[in-house]
Amino acid sequence: MKIVRYEKNGREFYGFLEGPSIVRAEGDLAQGLARTAHKDALAEVRLLAPCVPTKGVCIGLNYRDHAMELGLALPTAPVVFLKPSTSLIGPGDWIDYPELSHRVDYEAELVAVIGRKAKNVPTEQALEYVLGYTCGNDVTARDLQPKDGQWTVAKSFDTFMALGPWIETELDPSDLKIRAILNGTQKQSSTTANLIFDVPHLVSWLSRIMTLLPGDVIMTGTPSGIGPMQKGDEIAIEIEGIGTLSNKVR
Ligand code: ZN
Repeated sequence: MKIVRYEKNGREFYGFLEGPSIVRAEGDLAQGLARTAHKDALAEVRLLAPCVPTKGVCIGLNYRDHAMELGLALPTAPVVFLKPSTSLIGPGDWIDYPELSHRVDYEAELVAVIGRKAKNVPTEQALEYVLGYTCGNDVTARDLQPKDGQWTVAKSFDTFMALGPWIETELDPSDLKIRAILNGTQKQSSTTANLIFDVPHLVSWLSRIMTLLPGDVIMTGTPSGIGPMQKGDEIAIEIEGIGTLSNKVR
């Protein structure tokens, strides 16, 4: 099942994508979504970020290939940082190049979307709290990252949390091809099998630190091949079994 969030005639809805049509839903991710009799054509709506997280919980250095690329030792516990809810954008939205930065990178990431309030969840039950998966771009002002000592500034600019195009609910996240394509050229290519800490581990571990709420997202980290974007560029994040998230930079 593919869950979308979309805008039509100035109003926002959730829905279920079925081929070229969207079955409009009632409710939200916290209450649960119920099908209605109303359908919209995908071609006639604007897709939005598929959820509205209260927080984006992000994992750094979580691919073996990326840690090696940076010459860093593999972490023994997940490296965690947050993106504010105000950094959210959806498919087709602009990434704004901040005045304060001179190097803005893409980071292709598998994103787990939380479906149920999760607190102190055991690893064996962790996937029951995941609604599904979407593509993410953890946009990063790379030049501001080391200066700061921690990563809040580099990761938190408006438009720096790109999610979409929808939430795929029937997906095994353990071995999915993940790619970043900049202006048609492949820049990152890996598989989620290279994750150091997998999705069940992350959900369980994070839920022992902070309550994860429906719609919250875990951005699971990026593989090797990170690099800069320029104004005018188009960046696409593609994950097997989900689809493609595209955004342009201005
Ligand atoms: Zn990242």
